[in-house]
Amino acid sequence: MDDIKPSEYARSRNFLDGAVTQLSPYISRGVISTAQVKQHLLQKGFTPKTCERLFQQLAWREYFQRVWQHVPDLHLRNVKNTPTHLQFQGIPESVLDAKTGIHAIDMGIKQLYETGTMHNHMRMYVAMMVCNVAKCDWREPATWMYSHLLDADVASNFLSWQWVCGAFSSKLYFANQENINKYSHSNQAGTFLDIPYEDFGTMNVPKELNQKRSFVSPSTLEAAEFPEVMSLWKWRDLPRASNKQLLLYTPYHLDPVWRNDENAERVLLLDTQVLGILPMGKKVLEFVLDLAKNIKGISVVLGDMNEFMEVIQAQGLTCRTKEHPLVTSSTILYDERDWLYPEYDGYSPSFFHFWKKCENAQKKELQKLHK
Ligand SMILES: Cc1cc2nc3c(=O)[nH]c(=O)nc-3n(C[C@H](O)[C@H](O)[C@H](O)COP(=O)(O)OP(=O)(O)OC[C@H]3O[C@@H](n4cnc5c(N)ncnc54)[C@H](O)[C@@H]3O)c2cc1C
Repeated sequence: MDDIKPSEYARSRNFLDGAVTQLSPYISRGVISTAQVKQHLLQKGFTPKTCERLFQQLAWREYFQRVWQHVPDLHLRNVKNTPTHLQFQGIPESVLDAKTGIHAIDMGIKQLYETGTMHNHMRMYVAMMVCNVAKCDWREPATWMYSHLLDADVASNFLSWQWVCGAFSSKLYFANQENINKYSHSNQAGTFLDIPYEDFGTMNVPKELNQKRSFVSPSTLEAAEFPEVMSLWKWRDLPRASNKQLLLYTPYHLDPVWRNDENAERVLLLDTQVLGILPMGKKVLEFVLDLAKNIKGISVVLGDMNEFMEVIQAQGLTCRTKEHPLVTSSTILYDERDWLYPEYDGYSPSFFHFWKKCENAQKKELQKLHK
């Protein structure tokens, strides 16, 4: 957070080598919150005006989270519109193999495979190429991208794909070669994207994107592959310490300072039901396990959430976690997440609508400070 340069960020964030924060893996995994980032910058003396662009991006994340709370199955269905141009299932082979012929995009996909990261603009390019140029339905490719991202987050990922292809927005997003060249500092020409914007509407699927393949999920996680991961049944039979409280962590809640002065058993549950629907590649899992090492005394358990809750109840433990749409058991106690705008927890029909409310809240906050 100390390295953030808000003015530089505002000026360059759309460039693939721009001064972005690279904080999303830590925000998505619940290690730090968007509210902490905002607070940190204000405490360092940056003005809200200087940080406006960044605060707006943080608000995008919060907006998506709020939509998710109201539309829990958004990874499965079109939230606002049904796009009629999405005629195909699967993913273009050239995208999966990073061989589309658009050099910047191929580099972006290779980087995703190697590092688990991808710049926001590159994610938009890939999604628009798959959905709006190759006309593939968003569900499978969004799951493919999700499985490789260190920052994988259901709301940000699936709603962004839906935003690009018009399922969560009123128009399709397109970028041509000129735009890609500008933001990647490249000068490629003569590609299938080297066309004026008005031609996108009538363009046929280019031959480079014609061949489709189904996405093969990373193989189901075996506890034996990772020495620190134990099966639910092994964990169940461990001798229990005297404390009756269990603090539950998930791959989306790895906050190392949460209730850290409390005497409690701590478990990171890798829920096999969630992993079956929302797969996690090996690199991503390794990242999650590394983050879990920040939590003292934590056990990592692989198992089904319902069966886990049965064990908890049978052993007379109370279970507490942080609120998150992927954890829905009614027998768990929930702490609030750390929100930027806790007062706006309803469903906003658009980001613009949400942001207007946030701006008003910010103005009021500032007025209070100046009084
Ligand atoms: C197709 C697609 C898929 C995406 N999938 C994910 C995902 O699985 N997980 C995820 O965290 N983000 C996702 N995003 C949003 C965005 O690309 C990343 O949050 C951003 O690239 C993270 O890099 P950064 O931390 O350097 O961002 P910065 O630009 O430095 O922004 C700071 C923070 O603001 C938030 N933020 C910034 N841009 C967005 C955005 N467009 N939407 C939501 N929040 C934003 C993030 O929490 C980010 O860490 C996706 C975007 C697209 C277009």
